[in-house]
Amino acid sequence: MTACAGVVAMQGDVPEHRRALEAAFDDITTTIAVREPAAVERCDLLVLPGGESTTISRLLTEWNLREPIQAHVAAGKPLLATCAGIIIAATEPNDDRIEPLSLLDVSIDRNAYGRQRESFEASVDVTGLEDPFPGVFIRAPRIEAVGDAKVLARYDGGPVAVAQGSVVGATFHPELPNDSRFHRVALGTYVPTPE
Ligand code: GLN
Repeated sequence: MTACAGVVAMQGDVPEHRRALEAAFDDITTTIAVREPAAVERCDLLVLPGGESTTISRLLTEWNLREPIQAHVAAGKPLLATCAGIIIAATEPNDDRIEPLSLLDVSIDRNAYGRQRESFEASVDVTGLEDPFPGVFIRAPRIEAVGDAKVLARYDGGPVAVAQGSVVGATFHPELPNDSRFHRVALGTYVPTPE
């Protein structure tokens, strides 16, 4: 199987996401930047990256990407939403300026870590991984409550990654360390991992 992965390219570290996907999965042979509905339809896997969630929410509407992304997920195809991405994917982003995609049943505090800890690195315990994963948190949101989603990873006892159906959300940036383990364990059921 060969797969095309798309990274919604509004803000955030699009090249890093593309590199991380190509490093994690042999079968992902094409990665594209997604800026229009037709591009979503080409993708077997989508990434909604970080950035500024109120801006991303507005652009998703302006670029007519909401329905195609929801249809992608309704078809059972995987979506990885990181940092600002998980805020938008949540059912409760808890900010009136954000129109949620409501794909992950979680409640979010957008800038929970505040100014003094705007960015930090911390070990994250990921279900299915023996050793901790290096979590890079950049003005990270915090998951305040988890409904129907399943917790995939924890930092300091609290949830930092969740999954629901084919949607995976993380408050940290799994694309930044040179480490494919999170991608493989979280998305490997959708994309066969290299031996
Ligand atoms: N806290 C930011 C927001 O609300 C997200 C930060 C990030 O994506 N690095 O948009």
